[in-house]
Amino acid sequence: ALEYRNVTKAFGSEAEGTLLTALKDVSFKADEGEFVAIVGPSGCGKSTMLNMTAGLYQPTRGEVYVSGELVTRPNSHVGFMLQKDLLLPWRTIEQNVCFGLEARGVGRSECRERATAMLDRCHLHGFGDYYPHQLSGGMRQRAALARTLAIEPDVILLDEPFSALDAQTKIIIQRNFAATIEQENITTLLITHDLAEAAFMADRILVLSERPGTVVEEIRVDLPDRGNPTARRQNPKAQVY
Ligand code: ATP
Ligand code: MG
Repeated sequence: ALEYRNVTKAFGSEAEGTLLTALKDVSFKADEGEFVAIVGPSGCGKSTMLNMTAGLYQPTRGEVYVSGELVTRPNSHVGFMLQKDLLLPWRTIEQNVCFGLEARGVGRSECRERATAMLDRCHLHGFGDYYPHQLSGGMRQRAALARTLAIEPDVILLDEPFSALDAQTKIIIQRNFAATIEQENITTLLITHDLAEAAFMADRILVLSERPGTVVEEIRVDLPDRGNPTARRQNPKAQVY
């Protein structure tokens, strides 16, 4: 689970006239396994939110809690996937998936085992020995998800992970991600500029205002079939469309 309590984040300093408030007084809670999408104009502090959740930045005011613990630094409860999640080109897919595990001191054979299981789950069975350049963009995204899942995080942060994909691949990958994340019951924050994507992946959508970003609207999607756009569109309750 994840909680923001009156979080404000400013950069720069007032004395030097460079003070910039990116995010202002943001509060919300995401239950365990809940999928929350965040939408809002460019520069309203969305990436800043993810960076704070990951413990890379500290709030100027307020607190961020992950799994009941105050976030004060990067920690293994949180998996972070960037917009362009670069796989290391000189490592095979399996070695890429193992990267975070090795850093956490997991032994070689257990790494291999977990990598194989994660690649299977992300529909990349048999591609462990390939190098990133030998996969398509969508496959690389799934490999990056496998790497994020491998550390068994409580919370996953996704910063526009699908924006570079073609429309058809995008739908498949979105469905894939949603199903995998749901299976693992991982709390998820997804940043996106795509409202349709938010509506068919998330349980809830937070709409942020222009900078400084504050929550101006909270939409409960409240539909089953997360990640399945067809089923969600056909649902009579699907008023978000
Ligand atoms: P986009 O949709 O374009 O990705 P965003 O909502 O993710 O935008 P952020 O990257 O969070 O926006 O940036 C919010 C504001 O905070 C911007 O004005 C940005 O310049 C500023 N900002 C972000 N990180 C830093 C930093 N490390 N130092 C100074 N200012 C920063
Ligand atoms: Mg951003």
